[in-house]
This record gives sequence, structure tokens and C-alpha cells, in this order.
Amino acid sequence: MNLLLMGLPGAGKGTQAEKISEKYKIPHISTGDMFRSAIKEGTELGIKAKSFMDQGALVPDEVTIGIVKERLSKDDCEKGFLLDGFPRTIAQAEALQTLLSELDQEIDHVLHVKVPEEKLVERLSGRRICPTCGRAYHVMYNPPEKEGICDRDGSALIQRDDDKPETVKNRLAINIEQSKPLLDFYDDKGYLVTLDGDQDIDKVFEDIQSVIEN
Ligand code: AMP
Repeated sequence: MNLLLMGLPGAGKGTQAEKISEKYKIPHISTGDMFRSAIKEGTELGIKAKSFMDQGALVPDEVTIGIVKERLSKDDCEKGFLLDGFPRTIAQAEALQTLLSELDQEIDHVLHVKVPEEKLVERLSGRRICPTCGRAYHVMYNPPEKEGICDRDGSALIQRDDDKPETVKNRLAINIEQSKPLLDFYDDKGYLVTLDGDQDIDKVFEDIQSVIEN
């Protein structure tokens, strides 16, 4: 099962991805998470990616396509994968088509989680992340059991630099502009399913399951 998850920052992709990955036993591959862990580890990739991410800009295609290619060739992707945050450009989408056809595979569904723009700023500015496991919370809508502490591993939650108000607006503007041609690209191919992301987390997940299972 090869799935793509699309939606603007703050639409709840990461939260749904975690549920999908657990239920259907496919790896959740988030390019944003891969870049963040490279930054944390101080690798060459991390140093390269950081300057773009700090400005809310996209990391160059050649770098991003390279890491996805490498990741999809790992054994745990044999039964499928869930890509989150990739592709973000038409060049990336085309590279993915080429790669999948080389592997004799196809995309099953492109799940587009849609949330009204005005709600996204509120969601993003309240988002908190566990620096250890990457799980996302929201101070109001999805708080951890103990304030500021990850339920899973007890780490102190942080706010991502690119979730700070000065970066959020730029990030959303870039994403809105860049997602349109991608949504059209996948709609033309008949892969696109648009889901209402402005509902409870569990309701969104139910909608996703009915797409996958029907
Ligand atoms: P995300 O966690 O998906 O919101 O990604 C955080 C940041 O990582 C983005 O704002 C970009 O700077 C970078 N990034 C993640 N995925 C991609 C991608 N597919 N292409 C380019 N940059 C990306």
C-alpha cells in the first residue's frame, strides 16, 4: 500500500500519519522529520537543510529527492509506505513517478487533508513537538497528559523554530502556492482524495480508513 499524505502545515498530517502507520504497518516517511533529525545529529545534510528550513523555505529538490530515494529502497518499504511532506514540487512528484515505475510500483491514494487557512495559524502556533520521538501535540486541541511533557517518553516538549509566528506566515504562503499544481497533478492521475481535516482527530482517521479499505 503506497500512500501519500498532503495538506498544509498544521492540517494534522503528522498525527494521522502516526495512526495510519500503526494500523496498516507501513513506515511513516516524513521528509521534515528526516531533515530535523539530520540537523540534530549535525550531519552534512542537516547543515544544508537548516538554512532553508529556518526561513520556512523548501530544501532544494536534488537534496530532498536523494534522501527519499535512499529511504524508499530500504527493506521496510517492501509492503508499502506512507509519504508525508513529499513531494512538495512537481519535480519531486515526477521523480517519485520515475522511481516507483522503476520499482514496478504505483501510488494507491493521495490523501489530502484539508483545513481552512484561518485555522492553520492557530493550530501551528499552539503546536508542540517531542524532540526525542517527533510526536506532535497542541496546547489546546491535543495536549499531553502532563503539560509540556511527552506522553510517550517523558521528554520536555519544544516549539519548532518554523512554528514561531514570524515563520508560520511565510511557510503557509509558500505551501499554498506550491501545493496547488501538485493537487492538480494527482487529481489528473485519479489518485487524489480530499478529506475534511477540520474535524476531530478520530473522525478524520475514520474517513481515511474508509478510503483505504473501500
Ligand atoms: P514539514 O515538517 O513537512 O513541515 O517540513 C519542515 C520543513 O522541512 C519545510 O518547511 C522545508 O523547509 C523542509 N522540507 C520538508 N519536506 C520537504 C520537501 N519535500 N521538499 C523541500 N523541503 C522540504
